[in-house]
Amino acid sequence: MKIDCHVHSEMHSVHGEAVPFDCQMFLNDLRAAGLDGAALFSPNPLTCDKIPAEERMTNTLNMCKGEKTLFPLYWINPLEDDALEQVDMAVERGFLGFKMICSNYHPGCRESMDLLEKIASVNKPVLFHSGILWDGMNSANYNRPGNFEALLDVPKLRFCLAHVSWPWTDECIAVYGKFNNAYFRRPDLSCEMFIDVTPGTPRVYREEVFRHLLCSDYELRYNLMFGTDCSTDGYNVAWSKEWQKRDNELYAKFIENDVEDFKEHVYGKNFLRFLGLSDECPVKKIPMVGE
Ligand SMILES: [Zn+2]
Repeated sequence: MKIDCHVHSEMHSVHGEAVPFDCQMFLNDLRAAGLDGAALFSPNPLTCDKIPAEERMTNTLNMCKGEKTLFPLYWINPLEDDALEQVDMAVERGFLGFKMICSNYHPGCRESMDLLEKIASVNKPVLFHSGILWDGMNSANYNRPGNFEALLDVPKLRFCLAHVSWPWTDECIAVYGKFNNAYFRRPDLSCEMFIDVTPGTPRVYREEVFRHLLCSDYELRYNLMFGTDCSTDGYNVAWSKEWQKRDNELYAKFIENDVEDFKEHVYGKNFLRFLGLSDECPVKKIPMVGE
């Protein structure tokens, strides 16, 4: 199964009036891009703060209803008073994971850490934005990959940094190596990091980033995921195909060992494992000092 792990769902009701979502057209667009499914993020809690959490949830759950290849992730803001209760509500109602964007908080702040502990305790993953963020706000210092080392203190958390943290891609790769090493050193904690290759990187940087990412000696076969940042307001088929084509050429160039297996993982298997929907237990090469 090939999945786009990074799609934003829009509010499909405006001022109380329903704007219908054409699910079949959306699925047809995914198929036209060579994909079988997608993760849909619920609407942004910061810009939709006047819309109650329940309604934001209902919006996205209705879009995914009855479709086995659409995976709803709930976009949660740790600064909302009832954030911890929202976790229970979201899981109870069928969300498979969470999305967070640190526009106005540090990922290691108390509210965020409490929320992440709660998310880990219900065995759900969280996908973060990372890198420079087009939110119109002063947020670079919240989104540097090094800040996410704080998550080492959240036992059993599965989290993902999107956009390879562009432009801090080297820092992102280094943090990934650190989490893999920590996994070995502290197996009781076993917090696991994934990287979502959703662009972020402008086209001209892609080869350079992938060269570093794929030739770093860190085992990435089981932790990279494909995404596009498209929206449910019309899936951009041409954009998705263009990035898949470019990425596939780079995988062919840089992956020496079983590139088809690598792509199967990046385009689907890793996301399913991230969600906890796969039995795969990959044995990863652990980066060690002096090796
Ligand atoms: Zn996004």
